[in-house]
Amino acid sequence: MAARPAAAKAGAFRGNKQSLPQKPCSACGRPMTWRKRWRNTWDAVKYCSDACRQRG
Ligand SMILES: [Zn+2]
Repeated sequence: MAARPAAAKAGAFRGNKQSLPQKPCSACGRPMTWRKRWRNTWDAVKYCSDACRQRG
């Protein structure tokens, strides 16, 4: 578990005490943040959206 502090990229997480897991979308590379709907499938989630999944 290499927890690297998110580099100052977007400055998005100000004051967020719950640091949710993140990983990049396999299609567009944008960071995806954990969502409740993914709580059971997070390990299998590769794409941020249906559009990206269809692109592959
Ligand atoms: Zn994507």
